[in-house]
Amino acid sequence: AEPVLRVENLKKYFPIKRGLLAGLRGEPPRFVRAVDGVSFEVYKQEVFALVGESGCGKTTTGKLVMKLLEPTDGKIYLEGQDVTELKTQEEIKAYRRKVQMVFQDPFSSMNPRFRIYDVLEEPLLIHGIGETKAEREELIYKALEMVKIVPPEDYVGRHPHMLSGGQRQRVAIARALILNPTFIVADEPVSMLDVSIRAEVLELMKELKEKMGVTYLYITHDLSTARYFADHIAVMYLGRIVEMGPAKVVIDNPIHPYTRALLAAVPEPIPERRNIIKEVPIKGEVPNAANIPPGCRFHPRCLYMEKGLCDVKHPQLVEYEHNHWVECWLAGKI
Ligand code: SF4
Repeated sequence: AEPVLRVENLKKYFPIKRGLLAGLRGEPPRFVRAVDGVSFEVYKQEVFALVGESGCGKTTTGKLVMKLLEPTDGKIYLEGQDVTELKTQEEIKAYRRKVQMVFQDPFSSMNPRFRIYDVLEEPLLIHGIGETKAEREELIYKALEMVKIVPPEDYVGRHPHMLSGGQRQRVAIARALILNPTFIVADEPVSMLDVSIRAEVLELMKELKEKMGVTYLYITHDLSTARYFADHIAVMYLGRIVEMGPAKVVIDNPIHPYTRALLAAVPEPIPERRNIIKEVPIKGEVPNAANIPPGCRFHPRCLYMEKGLCDVKHPQLVEYEHNHWVECWLAGKI
């Protein structure tokens, strides 16, 4: 089968403002290489998780997929269509209907003066769906039922601040689904919610995936929710995917030292990974993406770093075993 989303060698470089003197001295322009050659595929009704610490490029990748940013280089295909080629307002509007986003903080993405009814009617009006008020009302009630905000008539008149965090996020999901999208980019959709309701919201998203046939790009710093929610995981570090594969394989048999370090940092250890929790295989902070280390970009923090190799030569993402990709010179040897 064809993937729903295909990303090919995607790059996004942000120029760093140069001082006047640097310009006069003829110093070359510098860039933050936020996304630096990322490729992956997402298949229908799958959840593909992009996992990493802040600054790894996962949110920028999500914004590129949403077409909120234009790539410096590379291609994005949705259902075979080259997204980077969409130029006219009409084309972009049609794309925005197909690809919806759920944000970390539903509150900041909702107009506080809107009632829940208006929050859900807005996308219908923008995209001209539902000709009459009655038709739109039916769609709004259905969407609320789908996310278990029931009975809808008790909620449509409320304002966002009158809902709990979990309810608000469910309304945000309803707002994304009301347009019947192909693809949803969910950027940390549960990280601001109480731990006790995270699983509930993810469970709902999973259920809707089956019912509505949507496909998700799930962006998170949290490997434990990725393991639960995702079918595939790509671990990002400083703009690159360093490990990618089926969620179970990546979690149960992590190969890249960075993935192992992330797993070791999971507060509630994942039972079957206890053996690696004893390691403390990471040092220091994520370097600034404006100063990416030479060679393997993880080398200053890696306990296994081999001098003369890791600090000079850039490893490539290679298929370590079937469908399990790793970007590390010592993959399988450590
Ligand atoms: Fe560590 Fe070397 Fe592998 Fe990079 S290539 S992750 S420095 S062992």
